[in-house]
Amino acid sequence: MQLTNQIMSLKGNNRKQVLDLLRNSGTVSIAEISMATTISKPTVKKIVDYYCDRSMVVCAGKGHSTDGGGKKPELFKFNENYGYTISIHITPDSIYSGIADMKADFHDLQRLPIKKNEKMDIILDYFVEIIQNFQGSKFVKRKELIGIAIAFPGMVDPFNGVSIYSPHYHSWENNYPFKEELLKRIDLDAEIFMDCTNRFQAFAEREKGIAKGKDNFFIVDAIKEGLGAGIIVGGYLKRGAQNLSGEIGHMIINPDSGIKCICGAEGCFEAMVSTERISKWVRDEHKNHKNSLIFKNRKPESVKIDHIFSAFKNGDDFAQKIIDDIIKWFAIGLSNIIVVYDPQMIIIQGIYVDTGDYFINNLRDKIRQYSLPAVDKKVVIEYSNLGWERGVLGGAAYVAWNFFENEQIYRTVRTA
Ligand SMILES: [Zn+2]
Repeated sequence: MQLTNQIMSLKGNNRKQVLDLLRNSGTVSIAEISMATTISKPTVKKIVDYYCDRSMVVCAGKGHSTDGGGKKPELFKFNENYGYTISIHITPDSIYSGIADMKADFHDLQRLPIKKNEKMDIILDYFVEIIQNFQGSKFVKRKELIGIAIAFPGMVDPFNGVSIYSPHYHSWENNYPFKEELLKRIDLDAEIFMDCTNRFQAFAEREKGIAKGKDNFFIVDAIKEGLGAGIIVGGYLKRGAQNLSGEIGHMIINPDSGIKCICGAEGCFEAMVSTERISKWVRDEHKNHKNSLIFKNRKPESVKIDHIFSAFKNGDDFAQKIIDDIIKWFAIGLSNIIVVYDPQMIIIQGIYVDTGDYFINNLRDKIRQYSLPAVDKKVVIEYSNLGWERGVLGGAAYVAWNFFENEQIYRTVRTA
């Protein structure tokens, strides 16, 4: 029995290798797949036939004949139109949504502005409308709906589809069974994957961003309303016993500072780098920096984070003092996480990307000061090159990844 399981597991591994290669290549021949995977040609042929029968792989014409004048080889490619995903990302002021193929390439992307702290009933109505519109679109013709990704702000129980707590939507009940309520309003055959946005955003980086091929990395996303992380360890997402993994915004890095966080604690990472704290600082210090470019043509109350970035880029001393302070808190926060997860890479997403080279170079320097020796040489710290679409993109990437992971597991178990 043990031997049978080993053989089946080997079979599953072979299939995974072949399918992964097809997914990440253009058109390839059986001989090319065999060479790249070191799996014998007859076995590769069997596996390719298996996926062709399921329409996941399709013929793509003939290649060039060999130098010896042999037969032109048949070419194959992954069929990204085998299925589709719907991905929806709710933020404090918008609902982003999109429909994507199996490679997480979007065929439609939309943004719906919503009222601050919008009521849950209205949010559910929006979700039903978005899903129905996508399902009725031309793109889905003859395709299977693989899954629906829903990226939520705050803490989420992904296994039960529950919004545990959302700091930006005070009107929502804690522990709200969102998935259950959505399914009362719409019939869906496909699985719903609901999770905290930052977790999906890690998959966006691995699929389309700068973490391709990385198995140990995390993203840190700082938006005006908060800060969180998506952590990948050994190729898998860290969620933790209570779905708390990634809530690094609430790691206390400056206790007794008097700086209150939205969670009720004092000196959280999120509170130290929040736009709210910076705005208060700017208002309080106005009298000492009256000539700062930050206040040029505007009152202290109307200063926005973009004004500070702009003044900083123009060499303003006060703006630089603020940015240096933010860098310090980032360095402390990230140094702490580095010793817990030992990542290959950290990707910075969100508002601070706009501060350019100065921020990231100084962040690397500070991490060198705070961390163990040589840590900075091993951990790559970079800005993300993804924009606002990173939430929906991450959702689609996660659904596709989950499908292919389970596809392999399912086949292996079933055939065993
Ligand atoms: Zn907090």
